[in-house]
Amino acid sequence: MSAAAPGTSSPPVPGGSQAPRYRNFVAGEWVASESERAVANVNPADTREVLGHMPLSSADETRRAVDSAHAAFPAWRDTPAPVRGQVLFRAQALMDKEKEDLARLLTREEGKTLKESLGEIQRTINILEYIAAEGRRFGGQTIPSELRNNFCYTIRQPLGVVACITPWNFPVAIPVWKIAPALVSGNTVVFKPATLTPETGAAVVSIFERAGVPKGVLNMVLGSGGTVGNALLDHDAVRAVSFTGSNEIGAGIYAQAAKKMIRAQCEMGGKNPVVVLADADLDVAVEATAQGAFGSTGQRCTATSRVIVEEAIADRFVEQLAARSGKVKIGNGLEAGVDMGPAVDPAQLKTDVDYIGIGQQEGARLVRGGRRLADGALAHGHFVEPTVFDHVKVTMRVAQEEIFGPVISVIRARGFEEALEAANNVRYGLSSSIFTSDVTRVFHFVDAIEAGIVHINSGTPGGEAQLPFGGTKATGVGPREQGPTALEFFTELKTVYVDYTGQARKSSIY
Ligand code: NAP
Repeated sequence: MSAAAPGTSSPPVPGGSQAPRYRNFVAGEWVASESERAVANVNPADTREVLGHMPLSSADETRRAVDSAHAAFPAWRDTPAPVRGQVLFRAQALMDKEKEDLARLLTREEGKTLKESLGEIQRTINILEYIAAEGRRFGGQTIPSELRNNFCYTIRQPLGVVACITPWNFPVAIPVWKIAPALVSGNTVVFKPATLTPETGAAVVSIFERAGVPKGVLNMVLGSGGTVGNALLDHDAVRAVSFTGSNEIGAGIYAQAAKKMIRAQCEMGGKNPVVVLADADLDVAVEATAQGAFGSTGQRCTATSRVIVEEAIADRFVEQLAARSGKVKIGNGLEAGVDMGPAVDPAQLKTDVDYIGIGQQEGARLVRGGRRLADGALAHGHFVEPTVFDHVKVTMRVAQEEIFGPVISVIRARGFEEALEAANNVRYGLSSSIFTSDVTRVFHFVDAIEAGIVHINSGTPGGEAQLPFGGTKATGVGPREQGPTALEFFTELKTVYVDYTGQARKSSIY
């Protein structure tokens, strides 16, 4: 990445006084927003550091970005798919070259540790590699006709302008796993990053720009979800919206899209369970649970937030998990040796602390953690301890609602069936996991768990670029993202019948 933050006129300056104002990217140009309103973009590990100021762009500016994407669509649609894929290969190479700088920016803006940032970026590089190659596989099927001398096949075609609306917790990977398949399919895009991660959003767009995405094919508008999001959904040229974020916002987007009869893909919250049976390798299960619960400060959609443990081993499991959580080193993610960064902002910190209080009020036993940390080096960040609750009942709010913080609820079960029932007893269905050496139970679990992803003897987070990603129940609506299903949402199928009999059909009953 160049020294200057993409989309700004000057590099971000720690301390704030000269912090840049980010720009929108419209019709291939970095343009200053007309809006005078802006929000400060601060480092959640040290709020004295202002990275920049994000303008609150207007609905009019958003509409102009859609107009630009609409104007660029015909030429991009007609660009051969393998050539579109080449642009993504160049983006992959650029991201690989710039990953260290990008990781530091991601850590300063979102708070996750440098190691976690590098992990997210490596996954994104893998996604770009996989999706770029889709340019050479882009096509349909040939399907036999029931008639002689008839040839039938399908082709895939792009939709038009696609809106991509993304959250702050994976601000490199999620935008790319939407933008890349949208572009390789021949769509043009208006991207709205989260208010908490505008600079990372701009860095991602800058990579696509320098990779050679033609003017107008990819646009970015910075601003509040309400204003920019609504303007995107209101514009008649927008043919689809791919959204990742909370259920509250996703439900509204889905309803708006339904009214306009446009496509919506919404990937939302999780309440991901790990099941640990008595025959499991306890050390492995404890380690995976701790990493799943406290990694990325619990701010992953696939974070482990419930662990359902067979009663026979529950005391030992809880003791080991509490000891392990006490070893988590908390601090600024840029510092070597730090395992867990801050909550992303004061609102998320408050949510974490509120739920810790709710768990105690509901009668769960607080085994470890539970406090906000604000002493010494942590004084200016949004830090909270890794927290373990035991004796959580499935009906408690801490067992039902997404907290999105480093809080894990231990639910005790008398056996496999009860554990499975508890695991399924939530509205969400993203990721899941079981630890056992009993192969019969493994396959029963795979069949019966209500989740889009299931891990056997490994934790709930994680995923690979070539495998589908997404959830069931209240978590997900629309085709799976990534992997071989990634292009489904971004393409229409057209069915083609070619009759080479040279005769009129004898029957008209079809
Ligand atoms: P969020 O508050 O729902 O925001 C997501 C995006 O929607 C942001 O860009 C936001 O903009 C925008 N937005 C807000 N109001 C809008 C509106 N009325 N119309 C259109 N867009 C609007 O979610 P978040 O707090 O950023 O992310 C955390 C959530 O994402 C968690 O629930 C997590 O589980 C979920 N998530 C799910 C997955 C998955 O694949 N299932 C992956 C990652 C995260 P502003 O930032 O300006 O508000």
